[in-house]
Amino acid sequence: MGAGAKRAEGRVLLDELSAEPARFLVARHVKRNMKRLYGVVRRVPGRPRMTVSRCEWAGDNPLLRRYHDVEWGRPEYDDRRLYEFLVLEGAQAGLSWLTILKKREGYRRAFDGFDPRKVARYGAGDVRRLLADGGLVRNRLKIASAIRHGKAVRDVHDEFGSFDKYVWRFVGGSPRGNRWKRLSQIPAKTSESDAMSSDLRRRGFSFVGSTICYAFMQAVGMVNDHVVTCFRHDRVRRPASSRRR
Ligand SMILES: [Zn+2]
Repeated sequence: MGAGAKRAEGRVLLDELSAEPARFLVARHVKRNMKRLYGVVRRVPGRPRMTVSRCEWAGDNPLLRRYHDVEWGRPEYDDRRLYEFLVLEGAQAGLSWLTILKKREGYRRAFDGFDPRKVARYGAGDVRRLLADGGLVRNRLKIASAIRHGKAVRDVHDEFGSFDKYVWRFVGGSPRGNRWKRLSQIPAKTSESDAMSSDLRRRGFSFVGSTICYAFMQAVGMVNDHVVTCFRHDRVRRPASSRRR
C-alpha cells in the first residue's frame, strides 16, 4: 500500500474512532499507533479532547492549565524569557501564580518585552510609570527588584555570553529528570537552588530566595517536576542537541 493510501485509510479509521466518545481511552492508544503507522493524527472539531492526566495543581482554570500544558517545565534557553520568569517568580511572593499569569502581558508591555538592556537604563520616571501601572503588582520593592534584575542580567550576559549559559550551570547544563509520584514529594528548594540563590544575591539580584529560585528552575525546565503520571512528564524532555543557541 502506498503512503497516500495508508494516510487515507488512517483518516477514515480515526474518524470512526472519534465518533464514539466512550472509546476515547482505547482511541488514545490506537491513535498513537496510527500516528506511527500513518503519520497522521486528527483532532475532530467540536469533539471533547481525550482525557489526559496532569499535575493536580494545574486544576480547572484554563489559563493555569494551558500554562502547565505548554510551558511549565519545558527547557527554556531564551535570555529574555529567563529574565521574565525571574521577575514573575519574584513578583509572585505572597500572591497566587494565577494572579501573576493574568498580569503577564501587562509585565511584558511595561518592561519593554523584558529586554534587559532597555530595563537597565530605566530612571526615576520609569519607576513612577511602573508604580502607576494597574497591570503590574504595584509593590515598590518588587518593581525596584525587577529593574535591578535588568541591570544584573545585562552584567551576567556580558560576563558569561548569555544569561542562559549562566543559570543552566546550576544544574550542570542539562535538566534534572525527577520521577515524583505525588506532589507532596516535590521539594520547595534544593542545594542547587540554594547555590543559585546565593550567587544571584552576590550579583545584586533581590527577591531570589532559594524557594523562588527553585520555582524558577521548575518553570524553565532546569528540573522536571511534573509527576510521573502527568502527560507532560515525558514530553518536556528533549535531547540536548535541540538547545536553541
Ligand atoms: Zn504536569
